[in-house]
Amino acid sequence: MKRIYLDHSATTPVAPEVLEAMLPYFGEKFGNASSLHSFGLEAKEALEESRAKVAAILCAQPEEIIFTSGGTESDNLALKGIGYRSKEKGLGNHIITSSIEHPAILETCRKLETQGFEVTYLPVTKDGLVDPGTVESAVREETVLISIMHANNEIGTIQPLKEIGEIAAQKDVFFHTDAVQTAGKIPIDVNDMGLDLLSISAHKLYGPKGVGALYARKGTRLDSIVQGGGHERGLRSGTENVAGIVGLARAADLASQEMASEAKRLTDLRDKLAKMVLDSVKDAWINGTMTKRLPGNLNFGFRYVEGESLLLFLDSKGIAVSTGSACSSKKLEPSHVLLSLGLKAEECHGSLRITMGRSNTEEDVDYVARSITEAVERFRSISALGR
Ligand SMILES: *Cc1c(COP(=O)(O)O)cnc(C)c1O
Repeated sequence: MKRIYLDHSATTPVAPEVLEAMLPYFGEKFGNASSLHSFGLEAKEALEESRAKVAAILCAQPEEIIFTSGGTESDNLALKGIGYRSKEKGLGNHIITSSIEHPAILETCRKLETQGFEVTYLPVTKDGLVDPGTVESAVREETVLISIMHANNEIGTIQPLKEIGEIAAQKDVFFHTDAVQTAGKIPIDVNDMGLDLLSISAHKLYGPKGVGALYARKGTRLDSIVQGGGHERGLRSGTENVAGIVGLARAADLASQEMASEAKRLTDLRDKLAKMVLDSVKDAWINGTMTKRLPGNLNFGFRYVEGESLLLFLDSKGIAVSTGSACSSKKLEPSHVLLSLGLKAEECHGSLRITMGRSNTEEDVDYVARSITEAVERFRSISALGR
């Protein structure tokens, strides 16, 4: 059976070019980048070339890139790094974020709340967007950081970062974004967007798992959260994952080369699938705005069915999708993102997230649309909830 992967927001396969770039660093180029001999220099060189490539896709400078173990660690470093330092210096203890952030942000904020920080969780509109006006009103004397994600991992909505960046600059507050879902997919310019900090992860853009980066604007002082040998300018100790970092850089490079054409292709596939499903299934809708949305993302709502049942049926047809986000799908609570849109719990339960990527074709769309229609009809007809 042909398998169709439609869960690219959860993770992506490593691109062949990325694997090829990484292999020598598991083999003959195995040196420790801190060593002074030729083996070390070889690794150090690869590290610095990678830093320049990653910086380039963000319109940043190489020395502003800190390599980490992924999106989660980058988010932790941004929030705790700014938070701990600001609190220690008596600059303030208030953080502003949104209610639809990834758990890497939300759980870090909850932890900080137990350590003397105050956090404002901004609501979003029913379309899934943060209103910059709410950010402005939330800023206080004690505010040290605004952290608003670039695009949401469940519903793909793209936030107005430039407007929020202007507010942050005007109020003299640090501005961080979790760009894990957008890096390599839509343009990012840290200067244009007024960003001080930005998180990315390799495995969401056809790179390896377990590696990512934090951009921190020159002059942005952070506390480190991992102490040790002082790697990455003392901000992230631990022998660098050279092969992984080379993979991240190659993946970022590749993604930026094909960004424009791939974004257009995926937007067309996305819109076609949305239309086919909404035309053939009653009591169905899309969660989140269709205008400011990631190219490959669709999040359907279907009344009178359970997303989990649909997921398992589609899996039996070789189609991999998700309900809510991969991180919360093991729990049976409704998605915090969908609840934030104002949906009722029962409306959240019939949600299905489809995230398309490089391997998906027009042919897939026809098969997937037919399979979703069949799945929804089947479960409605056997469910007491159905009509
Ligand atoms: C996947 C994801 C993360 C976590 O990244 P990891 O590299 O898996 O730790 C953080 N934020 C968003 C928006 C994500 O989609």
